[in-house]
Amino acid sequence: MIERVCLVHYHEIGLKGKNRSTFENRLLANIEHALRGTTFQKARRISGHLLVEDSSGFAPESMAQAISRVPGVARVSLAYRCPPNEDEYCKAAVRALGEVSGDWHSFKVHARRSSTNYQKHSLEMNQIVGSALCAAFPTKKVIMHHPDVQVIVHAVQGDVYVYADTGPGVGGLPVGTAGKVVSLFSSGFDSPVATWMVGRRGAICVPVHFSGRPMTSDSSEWLCQDLVEALAPSGIVGRLYVIPFGEKQRDISMAVPQSLRIIMYRRIMFAVAERIARMEGAKALVTGESLGQVASQTLENIGIVNEMVSLPVLRPLIGSDKQEIMRRAEELGTAQISSQDAPDCCTLFMPRRPETHARPDQVHEAWELFDHEQMIEDLIATMEYVDFNQCPSYKPPRNLRSRHSELAPATI
Ligand code: ATP
Ligand code: MG
Repeated sequence: MIERVCLVHYHEIGLKGKNRSTFENRLLANIEHALRGTTFQKARRISGHLLVEDSSGFAPESMAQAISRVPGVARVSLAYRCPPNEDEYCKAAVRALGEVSGDWHSFKVHARRSSTNYQKHSLEMNQIVGSALCAAFPTKKVIMHHPDVQVIVHAVQGDVYVYADTGPGVGGLPVGTAGKVVSLFSSGFDSPVATWMVGRRGAICVPVHFSGRPMTSDSSEWLCQDLVEALAPSGIVGRLYVIPFGEKQRDISMAVPQSLRIIMYRRIMFAVAERIARMEGAKALVTGESLGQVASQTLENIGIVNEMVSLPVLRPLIGSDKQEIMRRAEELGTAQISSQDAPDCCTLFMPRRPETHARPDQVHEAWELFDHEQMIEDLIATMEYVDFNQCPSYKPPRNLRSRHSELAPATI
């Protein structure tokens, strides 16, 4: 009987030398987690690949698709598994080539042997399978350099795996291999994309959302939850923090010159996010800022907000155009959610003319016009969170309450 399995390919992990098995095990665990609730049966390492099996013995397309969205996966192939018997693997090759979609004219066979207990040499396997395919597809050509399709025949651990079609994965590194980050997460287009980009590089992401509650409704908070759900296939998010910011924004807006309000909101947001990062053991903050996109994203304003924190701030979209970001948001399935209007802290108490090139002395003067330390404390004390069972390597802080007081501003 011919079975169908998923073969998962990863390149970057191969570069990691001694850490290779840690990376492979992490990827294995993440794939298992991504496939929970499906007909997934088991997954294991096999000669430079991961092998994923379905309980029906015939892995469906949907399984390959779900795997392809897991960071660390370079490519996924639906492969036929057969005994090391030339009739069987030739039949599988004909079937695999016949299933290749699109317009193709040429092919070649690439046979490989990773187990020496199979007698036939790979050159011989190439010839056997090549002749079977030429007979089955007489109008197609065999080309050695750059054929349209490659038929892979891989003898390994007592079985032969055969596949022709292979789909791209998202690439990157397994989540949980690059530490943790806290991501400033609005319900707009940019920050979910920025969060995903850092997650794809192996970071566990902890989004923090500042809502306008109680001065606005909580609809932006629901959108943020929907966005986190949309990112679920990549398994990057552990927990979403929500900070009701409306009242404090009102206090700021009454205390400081109108044009500097946004900068003050953002300085507070950064300070609070850094406090959460320290509690969570996160090593960096992430924002969806893109240079010059809006008033708060000029170099001067980025600088004056950045001085609030000592952790590195990652801005994966800093050089991206809005169209590129939107394209990615469409692919991720976040665009439609982000396009819904919801008042959040960004729409609250907005100045008519925000400062685009803030002068440090003016900002520092305005900063002293309200009790910012107390405000940060109060916001941390009122924060809420929602856990998502998406990311198997996410570990929440053990004792949130007592950890707050350990984090006096002076230690930051
Ligand atoms: P986005 O589309 O991500 O909302 P934006 O184009 O609206 O970005 P800004 O409002 O200037 O730009 O926000 C810049 C960045 O600041 C966002 O990408 C996000 O990282 C952070 N940010 C903005 N609003 C919030 C919020 N309400 N809560 C948490 N972080 C926020
Ligand atoms: Mg925004």
